[in-house]
Amino acid sequence: MAEIRLRQPVIAAQEDRSFWLQDIGAGPKTGPLKGEVNTDIAIVGGGYTGLWTALRIKEQSPETRVTILEADFCGSGASGRNGGQVHSWFAEIDQIAAVTGIEEARQLCADTADAIEELAALQASGVIDMDLRLDGWLWTASSITQEGAWDRAFETTRGLGIDRFRLLDAAEIERVTGSPVSYAGMIEERAGTVQPAKLAAGLRDLALSRDVVIHEQSPVLGILPGRQCALRTTGGALKAEKVVLAANAWLAAIPELRRHLYVVASQVIATAPVPDLLDRIGWKNGASICDAQAHVLYYQRTPAGRVIFGRGSGNIAFRDEFGASFNRSPERGFDNKRELHRVYPSLRGVAVDSDWAGPIDCMAEHVPVFDHLKDHPNIFYAMGFNGTGIAQTPVAGRILTSLVLERQDRWSASGLVGLKRRKALPPEPFRYLGAKLVRRAVRRKNDLEIQNKRADRLTQFVAGFMPGNSSE
Ligand SMILES: Cc1cc2nc3c(=O)[nH]c(=O)nc-3n(C[C@H](O)[C@H](O)[C@H](O)COP(=O)(O)OP(=O)(O)OC[C@H]3O[C@@H](n4cnc5c(N)ncnc54)[C@H](O)[C@@H]3O)c2cc1C
Repeated sequence: MAEIRLRQPVIAAQEDRSFWLQDIGAGPKTGPLKGEVNTDIAIVGGGYTGLWTALRIKEQSPETRVTILEADFCGSGASGRNGGQVHSWFAEIDQIAAVTGIEEARQLCADTADAIEELAALQASGVIDMDLRLDGWLWTASSITQEGAWDRAFETTRGLGIDRFRLLDAAEIERVTGSPVSYAGMIEERAGTVQPAKLAAGLRDLALSRDVVIHEQSPVLGILPGRQCALRTTGGALKAEKVVLAANAWLAAIPELRRHLYVVASQVIATAPVPDLLDRIGWKNGASICDAQAHVLYYQRTPAGRVIFGRGSGNIAFRDEFGASFNRSPERGFDNKRELHRVYPSLRGVAVDSDWAGPIDCMAEHVPVFDHLKDHPNIFYAMGFNGTGIAQTPVAGRILTSLVLERQDRWSASGLVGLKRRKALPPEPFRYLGAKLVRRAVRRKNDLEIQNKRADRLTQFVAGFMPGNSSE
């Protein structure tokens, strides 16, 4: 049987790592795979998805041997580079319902709310110090076209009798965020922010303490499928009865998955610490804030008083073969700085200490999928988190665990399981060229709408081809 080839991530230079990773001096804690080794379940990828899946498998079946192979170090991917915004799936309940039906969507959203409580319990018990602050997640508008972006989520949850969101007026938004620019929105109160790299490092420690074997600096180059799969790394080979592919956007290496997966870059900057200035404008707590523009802005104040300001850059790569520019963009966060100064005019003189980027695994439905590879019933995967993973991957871990342990339960029966039901994307080169055109139109339209101007009809027409809502 032919080997399934994987891509190796381009390892970021130390200065191109995220502020979060640099701040905690993150790096490998375990050694690379050497020689020939056996395990029951091999997991490719040591981000939140791989780590949560390993933990869930051990919860359910402590005797099962689980080995994680991570190309770089745990948390070096999206998990250690993200915006640190912790919020439930209730904001996306309509998109989930379109895939699973409303009853299951409601349950999955509640599961992510429970996952937030699980994070809170891990922190409160001293197991993982992740700087979790549940001061709320705000979804706001700073221009006319953004107004009411949250209406459907608000109305659907209310219609189900769920009191998850509260509408905010301009005065309250300014009181919490210190920005005079966002003037309408809503808040999810049991939500907030984390230091994402601390969370990833903490999950690695927890997994190690539960006897999960982890080999970092062990990129999987290929998998020879069969009753026993053989995973080939640069230094060794791992034989496993079952494999979980938790390699996020890098799964685009597999043609069967690439037909459904498109990868875009998201860009983040971190300012110098300015706690006094932020206190003065009233931005004092650990709320996470999301501005509803097409290239979504996401930002938080760290406990030390830095501003972390992220934005979907819209950058894409031919055949999803992304490289170093998805670690750190040559534009060095130019658009983020412009937007930071628009939303926070008082931060104009503040230095930006760090900028970085990361890949987002997107699917047309904007909802992840779980399945096994078509011809290989013992090779499972998860993909399509669409830029929202902190409270979602603990749930993903449950679904993957039930699939891999062959449990017949609500997780394995989830409507999120099954790639067949999902939309395929056009083949290359049409896909890349089309996406470039659409992205350019989305960008032009968005740049005008931020200033309350209208794009011409052609731009609006082309931008309308963007799959789903652009939240990446
Ligand atoms: C810039 C950015 C901002 C974001 N902001 C937020 C946010 O504010 N809130 C939120 O909830 N979510 C956010 N997300 C999304 C969130 O970070 C992801 O959904 C989540 O981290 C996905 O976890 P993962 O384990 O699937 O992926 P990753 O953390 O990317 O882990 C995949 C791992 O697989 C490894 N790998 C790849 N190929 C191989 C191979 N061949 N062999 C071995 N290992 C391999 C990689 O090195 C990587 O460590 C953001 C993402 C990005 C990129």
